[in-house]
Amino acid sequence: MKDRETFVLINIDNYINNLKYIEKITNSKVIPVLKANAYGHGKEILAKELKKEGYDLIAVAYLSEALEILKETKIQTLIFNYFNPQDLKELIEFSDYILPTITSVDFLKEAVEILKEDITKFKFHINYNTGMFRVGLSKNELKELITIIKENNIQIDGFYSHYATADDMDEFVHFQHKKYLEVLDILKEENISIRLKHMSNSAASLLFPEYSLDAVRPGIASYGMQPSNKKIIKELKPVLSFKSVIAKLNELNIGDTVGYGRTFKADKKMIAGIVPVGYADGYFRNLSNKAEMLVNGIRCKIIGRVSMDQIIIDVTNAKAKIGDEVVLIGKQKNEEITSEELANLSNTINYEITSKITNRVKRVYF
Ligand code: PLP
Repeated sequence: MKDRETFVLINIDNYINNLKYIEKITNSKVIPVLKANAYGHGKEILAKELKKEGYDLIAVAYLSEALEILKETKIQTLIFNYFNPQDLKELIEFSDYILPTITSVDFLKEAVEILKEDITKFKFHINYNTGMFRVGLSKNELKELITIIKENNIQIDGFYSHYATADDMDEFVHFQHKKYLEVLDILKEENISIRLKHMSNSAASLLFPEYSLDAVRPGIASYGMQPSNKKIIKELKPVLSFKSVIAKLNELNIGDTVGYGRTFKADKKMIAGIVPVGYADGYFRNLSNKAEMLVNGIRCKIIGRVSMDQIIIDVTNAKAKIGDEVVLIGKQKNEEITSEELANLSNTINYEITSKITNRVKRVYF
């Protein structure tokens, strides 16, 4: 069924090639980050592709995301954020695949209380705070944790931290990296063996590859979006395109107004194209009267307000016909609209542009 013909196209080759590029630059194991529905790209299909390509560890934000992926493909999944340790009881059969992060001493204490000896079936990662102050542990918490780890033979598969400013390329990156390296001595003294030390997001992986450690955790760059506006990395190829069609054409005369609130008034004769997509699909309403879309390789500006399911664009110069392809994000002929362009116009970051494309928009993979 073609329905309204608004869809997102996902280029799997570009996704895998971006990951291979990151692997080459960092010379480290790559843990692809698929949280938030793989930044809007669709996590289950990408996880399957990753497994086919030999990747054996991915990361998500929440337990529910990991379980949704596990239904489709069996791949080890690190969970970054807190979940209720009570849930571990029901997860014993998945203990080979679910790798929880120890986000607090209480989390681990409760997990031990609930699982008893079964706690040894799980492999945990520890998030250590080097300056982000989210769910990472302090040095004192880490010391307390080590006692519990030793007493209960808990397996620690990974020890990680997270950069706050790698995209800004500032001094704080070096400060955090140093803090991370210093704490490793404590683990060494306590004979806590760790398979994977990891700290780098996309920006750190590509801008500070010398800090890559055993593994890196790229999200944004794996999807071909720029991790920093300080340095453009041309090898990254966008994975996602967002497309629709011209649903109807309207002739506007001088003085005609379009859309809710009549925020656009024609000052000349124009042709307006109606595009069946709107803010309920995740196209930002604050792009009203600002952003452009591509029709026949011509940039066509949005006129009037983005409504829930429809957007009006100026196709006067585009020789548009009903059914013509409209590109919201992606390439058409010699033109391209990137998520970075939309992010700049919306006063946000590229992450938000793709991760907010809603489930009403079907994802098509090629
Ligand atoms: N690691 C952690 C803990 C994260 O929260 C994120 C996402 O913000 C990433 C890695 C991936 O970051 P990026 O998309 O900037 O590569």
